[in-house]
Amino acid sequence: MVNEEKLIAFGPVPSRRLGQSLGINNIPPKICTYSCIYCQLGRTNNQKVQRESFYEPQEIKHEVEIKVKEARRRGETIGYLTFVPDGEPTLDINLGKEIKILKTLDIRIAVITNASLLWKKDVQNDLSNADCVSLKIDTVNGENWNKINRPHRLLNISKVLSGLTKFSHDFRGELITETMLIKNINDNTQELEMIADFIEGLIPKKSYISIPIRPPAEKWATPADEFDINMAYHIFKERGIDVEYLIGYEGNAFAYTGNAEEDLLSITSVHPMREEGINNFLSKAKANWNIIDKLIEDNKLVEVEYKGKKFYMRKLPGKYHVNARGESKK
Ligand code: SF4
Repeated sequence: MVNEEKLIAFGPVPSRRLGQSLGINNIPPKICTYSCIYCQLGRTNNQKVQRESFYEPQEIKHEVEIKVKEARRRGETIGYLTFVPDGEPTLDINLGKEIKILKTLDIRIAVITNASLLWKKDVQNDLSNADCVSLKIDTVNGENWNKINRPHRLLNISKVLSGLTKFSHDFRGELITETMLIKNINDNTQELEMIADFIEGLIPKKSYISIPIRPPAEKWATPADEFDINMAYHIFKERGIDVEYLIGYEGNAFAYTGNAEEDLLSITSVHPMREEGINNFLSKAKANWNIIDKLIEDNKLVEVEYKGKKFYMRKLPGKYHVNARGESKK
């Protein structure tokens, strides 16, 4: 039997983006405007663009309240109530009402959306009451959009992108973006520069570069390799974007444990480190380069180059790893 309570509210779960986040599943699985090739929920059989009512807003509030009370009883703090359903949250026509009534719980509200309906005025209004909105921007090129996100046939990329721009100018909360890099599709210099130029114009608080880390809807959707992830990082950075990786490790570059090896892995899972940065770190930690050699040997760290300079980043995890030379490796 399906437990409805678990379906609507879950967690809190730790999230690097949002701290302790209590998830809200306001869409029955899996109803979406997209059918992304990397979706961990499989292909979308129920693709829609028309907003509709799925649950009563009061029912959502009730389920969330139960989880909030449980978490508080255990002494856990909740940083965000996050709409992160098994589908696209803005398809829910009650989203605005739900955000408003959940605000009475006095916890910040986040919505993780694929941004495909942001050109609609009602969606913009609904999201305007959230404290944080995360927007998916995998590409700004129509051909790749069709390849990666496989949008509903009634969607149009120019409309979607201008909706994103309009929303970013009006929104008063925290805006973040997430870009999923897929090998041989959106991981080349030209594409990354176009994405970064577009994101720069949105002035997000933070931009995340991610890769598929769970089995994707399509087996052939493999993650970009370390070389291209590092290149993407620098292309974003050169435009003044505050960028971090989300590559499967919830590393925290700002929480030092005092263990040099752990701290290096933590930092390099969030952003690459330059050789000089590593040397500074090692001298502060009273450690030497042997640590780096060992981490490389143990397949935990990888050396990559960008514009003639050496950088070190966390080796990509898991089954879908492809190395910097494009060779598949487990
Ligand atoms: S937008 Fe999200 S839920 Fe929809 S298909 Fe893409 S990854 Fe899956």
